[in-house]
Amino acid sequence: MTSVVDIRNVTFAYGEKIALDDVSLSIEAGDFLGLIGPNGSGKTTLLHIMLGLLTPDSGSVDLFGRPIDEFDQGERIGYVSQQATSGGGTMPVTVRECVRMGRFAHVGHSRLSDTDRQIADEALETVGITGLADRRINQLSGGQRQRAYIARALASEADLLALDEPTVGVDAESRDAFYRLLDSLNDSGITIILIEHDIGVVTDRADQIACINTKLYHHGDTESFVESDALSEAYGATGTVVHHHH
Ligand code: ADP
Repeated sequence: MTSVVDIRNVTFAYGEKIALDDVSLSIEAGDFLGLIGPNGSGKTTLLHIMLGLLTPDSGSVDLFGRPIDEFDQGERIGYVSQQATSGGGTMPVTVRECVRMGRFAHVGHSRLSDTDRQIADEALETVGITGLADRRINQLSGGQRQRAYIARALASEADLLALDEPTVGVDAESRDAFYRLLDSLNDSGITIILIEHDIGVVTDRADQIACINTKLYHHGDTESFVESDALSEAYGATGTVVHHHH
């Protein structure tokens, strides 16, 4: 089986500061991977390397079975960055326009057909923001904006969704609904990579856990993670005490 993401012996430093040290892991189609680790442990860096936004100093990255520098199917990947909840929405476009842009990867700009518009409308429906379609992106709340970006990814037919702390600043109720949406997208076959600081949420939702702190401390199914010492080892490495049980 071809892995969705396959990372081998990746090392990355910002100047003198080593952010990732010899990290290898692969993510299979249909996985819901929770990527956890203390603040500053390299989670965002690792995600950016997986998405080709940063190039590792050494090691290799394959996406959908191809070396990342030969990968040309960007529309298969949806990324909701940490900034997506706050600020960000400077583009004076409506939610519907933003989601329709997800079709551009398939049809080129200004050539949307009725079918493309319909696919975009269905994506809005899937994430539950049809009623917000005519609002501007920058008028949405953080949680609504996350949904708009996910809808755009769905419109582009992404089969990998990467989310970096998507519910920061989102109230508890919307947060639950948001994670239910992620579950149902995963059930429909979309591979999910989720960075989330609330370990209870991760162990509830994810079926795979990668726990890092510069090095990889654990990668495997959630049950084996919960039974392992990886959490205290990884968080102990920076002196952070975590007693979070869900
Ligand atoms: P996390 O997402 O787990 O909080 P990051 O991947 O953002 O961790 O950061 C890993 C380490 O690299 C941290 O020590 C952070 O301070 C450092 N770092 C991140 N981005 C930069 C940057 N642009 N320049 C220098 N150091 C950085």
